[in-house]
Amino acid sequence: MYSCGPTVYDYFHIGNARTFLISDIVRRYLEYKGYAVTLVQNLTDIDDKIINRANERGINTSQLAQKYVDAYFEDSNKLGIRAADVHPRATEHISEIISLIQTLIDKQAAYEIDGDVYYRVNHFAEYGKLSHRKPEDLLAGARVKVDERKEDARDFDLWKKSKASDPWWDSPWGKGRPGWHIECSAMAMKHLGETIDIHAGGHDLLFPHHENEIAQSEVATGKAFARYWMHVAFLQVDGRRMGKSERNFIFVHDALQKYAPEAIRHFLLSAQYRHPLDYNPTSLSESSSAIRRLNNCLDALRPYRDADGDTPDLEEEALNDAEAALLRQSIDTMRHDFESAMDDDFNTAGALGTIFKFAGEVNQFLAATEDQSRLHRDSRQSSDERRNVLSQAYKSLVKVCSILGIYAEVEVAADAHAALTEQLMNLILEVRQDARQREDWETADKIRNQLEQLNVELQDGRTGTTWKIIKGVH
Ligand SMILES: [Zn+2]
Repeated sequence: MYSCGPTVYDYFHIGNARTFLISDIVRRYLEYKGYAVTLVQNLTDIDDKIINRANERGINTSQLAQKYVDAYFEDSNKLGIRAADVHPRATEHISEIISLIQTLIDKQAAYEIDGDVYYRVNHFAEYGKLSHRKPEDLLAGARVKVDERKEDARDFDLWKKSKASDPWWDSPWGKGRPGWHIECSAMAMKHLGETIDIHAGGHDLLFPHHENEIAQSEVATGKAFARYWMHVAFLQVDGRRMGKSERNFIFVHDALQKYAPEAIRHFLLSAQYRHPLDYNPTSLSESSSAIRRLNNCLDALRPYRDADGDTPDLEEEALNDAEAALLRQSIDTMRHDFESAMDDDFNTAGALGTIFKFAGEVNQFLAATEDQSRLHRDSRQSSDERRNVLSQAYKSLVKVCSILGIYAEVEVAADAHAALTEQLMNLILEVRQDARQREDWETADKIRNQLEQLNVELQDGRTGTTWKIIKGVH
């Protein structure tokens, strides 16, 4: 699977995040269904936007690109998007790009003019087959900036001759840099072979980017380039497309300061990917409360997580038997409906619907059976049947939620961190105590001062040293 990744000249916004997230969800779901998935997502690290932004800031393009590559991984990681198996960078594939361009020239599908190389669209009869655009539409689209030297207005750059201060690489056509479209063809074929199963990207890449990727790759290999194309629809803000001119970008970087990653994911998955998704001021707070409801349900189920499957005591079983049978049925229905929704072109909205419907049924079951359990002679224990079905409900719910990434064992992780912090602090205090006993004041003070830098304050008392975190970190 190949997914067109970010052009690293800025932070990515939640419209981009939707595309990256969907690629990850598709991978997770296919893995759940037993497929082995290799996901490749490129990083476009040389491009006009990068060159312009780097010039504005007075730094070189690789410094700028590296800053936003790092930011991409930091934010996507926080958002719970798993890294792809390979994240190829355009600047690390120049020789593959050059040899692909040479192949196209050899096949008369490209031509050079004064250091620039263009793709000859007329050479590929199927051009337009992905976007279903008519030749006259294609011409209208290309009219914006017609290069008089081109044979046809639709022809596009494969290799650009370098201007004075631009970064450049040597090539058979002189110093220059690759065009954007050829980068994806070269990297996709290098890492996934000549035909790939699934190619994903934002809807804005359908034309011309993906149309051009097909034209380049299929002429070069004579084979189909991608078996399935997935285009993730636009994210709108209050009914308007998110865009530079509207100044309505919402960067993931900023959204993560205010909202839990699970809430952002819930929002991004609340429409099937081919449908536009509208963001308004209440979208993320609604998603936040949905995630809270889900977490409450999972919290209530967690105590039953490890219930074993031992034979139910017949006398106790009778107590909750009817309700337990109903919940068991709900589990099966939920799993079935979840898969049907996801099998239907990854309908995440439908999948979320089945999860929340099921959470409601779990809550009802818990309310209905709690009193009965309390009345039971051994009030600390629910009946085996009740515990077993709740354990199963917990595991099933966690399973489907983890495919969508809307649930993380947050509390468990936080507990583990707190315990580790405690142990590490005890160790540090012990080392410092040893230093004090040796009258090694330098080491003792160093530990105190460095901890202070980490907002940890030590208090030496008669009974020993205590510590506390100051200034509200965490
Ligand atoms: Zn691409």
